[in-house]
Amino acid sequence: MTKTDQLTSPLDIQAIRADFPVLNQEAHPGKPLVFLDSAASSQKPRQVVDAMSTYLLHDHANVHRGIYALSERATDAYEAAREKVRVFINARSRREIIYTRNTTESVNLVAGSWGRANLGPGDVVVLSEMEHHSNIVPWQLLAEERGFTIRYIPVTDEGLLDLAAYETFLQQEPVKLVSVMHVSNVLGTVNPVAGMIRQAHAAGALFMIDGAQSVPHLAVDVQALDVDFLAFSGHKMAGPTGIGVLYGKRVLLEAMPPYMGGGDMIRRVTLEKSEWNDLPYKFEAGTPAIAEAIGLGAAVDYLGTLGMDNILAHEQIVVEYAMERLSEIPGLKVLGPGPDRRNGVTAFVMQDLHAHDTAQLLDMEGVAVRAGHHCAMPLHQRYCLPATTRASYYVYNTTADVDALVEAIYNARKLFGI
Ligand code: PLP
Repeated sequence: MTKTDQLTSPLDIQAIRADFPVLNQEAHPGKPLVFLDSAASSQKPRQVVDAMSTYLLHDHANVHRGIYALSERATDAYEAAREKVRVFINARSRREIIYTRNTTESVNLVAGSWGRANLGPGDVVVLSEMEHHSNIVPWQLLAEERGFTIRYIPVTDEGLLDLAAYETFLQQEPVKLVSVMHVSNVLGTVNPVAGMIRQAHAAGALFMIDGAQSVPHLAVDVQALDVDFLAFSGHKMAGPTGIGVLYGKRVLLEAMPPYMGGGDMIRRVTLEKSEWNDLPYKFEAGTPAIAEAIGLGAAVDYLGTLGMDNILAHEQIVVEYAMERLSEIPGLKVLGPGPDRRNGVTAFVMQDLHAHDTAQLLDMEGVAVRAGHHCAMPLHQRYCLPATTRASYYVYNTTADVDALVEAIYNARKLFGI
């Protein structure tokens, strides 16, 4: 029995682990795999793979085009998945759910469409120092072209957003958009987005959430938050790669120009000009990732059956235990705030042991973690760190995995004579 069981996780984790055959293997001979890299990409349950293979083996045809039974079946499954996503984040309409490839493409869509149409010299976009590159670089590219200014909310030593600086930006600058991550992929910080959205709206700015690390782990309700845009990736929430989502308020999406041109996104094309299709298709040019969308629908079903509140409660137990155990290790420092303000990840540095060496030595013990800047170079520069080692957790992880991680760290230290 694991400590998680003793601490009464609301979920039957052993039953959940049975849905993920990939977890049941040895990473190296005699070394069972301990998978602690779900923040990069989560594993997929059998239910998701089954939904995709059923579609591919029995129901595949292109969507929206065929007037035959098979194409109608494919279209129904593809659109049913969109409806599942709508319910999952409580959007008002299916038209507000745009399929993309991932969070990165969702942010680029907002920058390339809304941003290019609405931002110019004198305008300000507010990001934060803790952002993933996918919520920095698209804005930098556009700022070069359109001449607006980017401001970054500083991050405190503890790993929290400096909300006083945020308020000052909103009061003193012509801010048109705030785009901030909900949960940090390095610090684990859960940012107080509800209040930040109210403040942004009061200042006349729109708000976009990068939900890559929140939507997989906790209930995100776009209506309750009143958020304008939300970006997330299927592959971090038990779904396949190649499918992501941009949620946008309908009134905003209606007013935005297309992001990409091609088939399916038009109503009428002449050699002189074209007219755009209705939402969401205006933003979905070309043949979409049909099997992947269906897989995402199955992932949403899976998470919904477990219950997002249960998933969060379970992960809190594991993360709290990880913080406790990791802090016992001499010379090891976990980045970010205490367990009550974080979710999902523990990134750490160790005296006398480089992050990449640590990850390599942990791999020898079967423990899969990630080392590097985790696509958050500015955040690492903020802490004067070239790299960190990151263990990240999902619903299938247990405190036994944390024990394996800690034991592997002690073994790595021994090997280095620390
Ligand atoms: N935002 C955050 C917070 C992330 O952690 C990631 C991926 O790690 C991304 C954005 C980018 O996600 P994707 O590579 O799926 O586009």
